[in-house]
Amino acid sequence: MGEQVREEIDRSTQNRVPHAPLPLRASAPLLTDHTAARSSFSIVAGIPVANLSEDEAVEVIDNLVAEGGTHYGAVVNAAKLVAADRDEKLKRVLLDADLITADGMSVVWASRLLGHGLKERVTGIELFQRLVERAANARRSVFFLGAREESVRGVVELFARKYPALQIAGYHDGYFEDSEWRSVCEKIRLSGAQLLFVAMGSPKQEHWIASNVALTGASFALGVGGSFDHLSGLARRAPRWMQQSGLEWLHRLALEPRRLWRRYLIGNSAFIWLVFRDRLLGRGPDQQN
Ligand code: UDP
Repeated sequence: MGEQVREEIDRSTQNRVPHAPLPLRASAPLLTDHTAARSSFSIVAGIPVANLSEDEAVEVIDNLVAEGGTHYGAVVNAAKLVAADRDEKLKRVLLDADLITADGMSVVWASRLLGHGLKERVTGIELFQRLVERAANARRSVFFLGAREESVRGVVELFARKYPALQIAGYHDGYFEDSEWRSVCEKIRLSGAQLLFVAMGSPKQEHWIASNVALTGASFALGVGGSFDHLSGLARRAPRWMQQSGLEWLHRLALEPRRLWRRYLIGNSAFIWLVFRDRLLGRGPDQQN
């Protein structure tokens, strides 16, 4: 960990307000440019989800970083797919991603129902940790952007302890104003980070990444939702049995019912409808790669 980062860990938090999503990256490449990066995928609610194991996903991202240029990935759950179905901009951001994996078990189940089942779920939080581990081994530098100051600092401290060789280029909380976004991009660019992890919630993080990844100079950016809060211990993850049986959402709903009831109860029903619509319209296996 660099001296500058250590100094920043000690610096106190400033109160900041969230900023609105930014306009999309004009030069974003089309989905078809990236199909080579995926051995196969399953289209769920119009979004191609990569049929990769966690190991394979790490490998694909490794290759993207080695290839140079700027790339980004996203993970999707039922709520995000429903949101993308209703929001063209979000859909575009997902279609422009280099890699999308299934964060939620419901996405895996839907892929199976549609006749082209994904081999496994590759969650944002697991992929994130695997990529940090790989970065430590491959001497690639990482930047953490998002969440509250204490949360992102907790993640930096955790990984610095776990992987002494990890090159942590820097970090920044996820609560900054519109007027600050350029300086945040500049901070990341000057840090020289190759991998950028963004934990600002959805769809904000997806929009932010698509709009700014090129400005940050990072080779690969991934939106990791509430991962910083979970890993720093500020939020509890569901017990393993709930994660494995696709009930993680229920755990989150129980913890934050006011904020999440709409997302899960209405979102899950809407997702079931979307999947059945695709099945009825035959938008299943014949669209798969
Ligand atoms: N967050 C942020 N900036 C914002 C809004 C949220 O950095 O303007 C952070 C928040 O502190 C939390 C994460 O984004 O750490 C959102 O987590 P959540 O589990 O809600 O992610 P989602 O399920 O929406 O992907």
